Amino acid sequence: MMRICSLTSGSKGNSLFIESSHARILIDAGLSALQIKNRLKSIDVAPESLDAIIITHAHRDHISAVDVLSYQLDIPVFGHPDTLRTLTYFFKRIQKIIPCTGKFSIKDLDLHPFPVSHDSIPTVGYLIRLGTKTLSVSTDLGIVTPEAEENISQAQFIVIESNHDSEMLLNGPYSWELKQRIASRLGHLSNHDTGFFLKSIMNGKIQKILLAHLSEENNLPALAKNTVLDFIGYQHNELLDVLEQKKVSAVFTF
Ligand SMILES: [Zn+2]
Ligand SMILES: [Zn+2]
Repeated sequence: MMRICSLTSGSKGNSLFIESSHARILIDAGLSALQIKNRLKSIDVAPESLDAIIITHAHRDHISAVDVLSYQLDIPVFGHPDTLRTLTYFFKRIQKIIPCTGKFSIKDLDLHPFPVSHDSIPTVGYLIRLGTKTLSVSTDLGIVTPEAEENISQAQFIVIESNHDSEMLLNGPYSWELKQRIASRLGHLSNHDTGFFLKSIMNGKIQKILLAHLSEENNLPALAKNTVLDFIGYQHNELLDVLEQKKVSAVFTF
């Protein structure tokens, strides 16, 4: 069994806790180290019990605590070699880096990185397997490429970006340049994009979908949920939850 909990999710920070009976990992660590430790304690997880931090890409909202956490907890950081090269250039206290381009394991969890289309190159999503259970995590992607689709569609538990409402983005406070960046093929998925994609892969095996990496300026949790439900059908209401920036999520078992 896996336990999955979002410590924070959104444009200002991302960190997902995943546990099996043997392994405890974080996917990304984009919050202060103190807050990550406090949020872990709030779900009765001792920060010292973490085995590793796995990084998706080198944007600040995914890596800000990697340095301090790795140093304080004496744990390794896994990621694409180019991402780790960037990290170690800026951060000097990372204890141990383990570059991975293909599958790797952390105790009983098998992790398979897959490339996604985003403007920090490389950016990866992860398929995480425990026995027959498969979880996919992909939080920063401008479009769903065929390769991303092939991976995400294998999962029964899906954590996927639903970043912005296109109209809120268009009419919102950001500069035209930033709006274009977010909406581009190397930016972020809109609620509409995510709904459209999920509809195309819906099957009877999907047990949970968590909408992630919502923009605080250009989205609302209820709007993201309803837009996606418009695509996949309201009969799937129970499948869908929205992750938030300020709140630790429920602990999902899978
Ligand atoms: Zn990013
Ligand atoms: Zn991000």
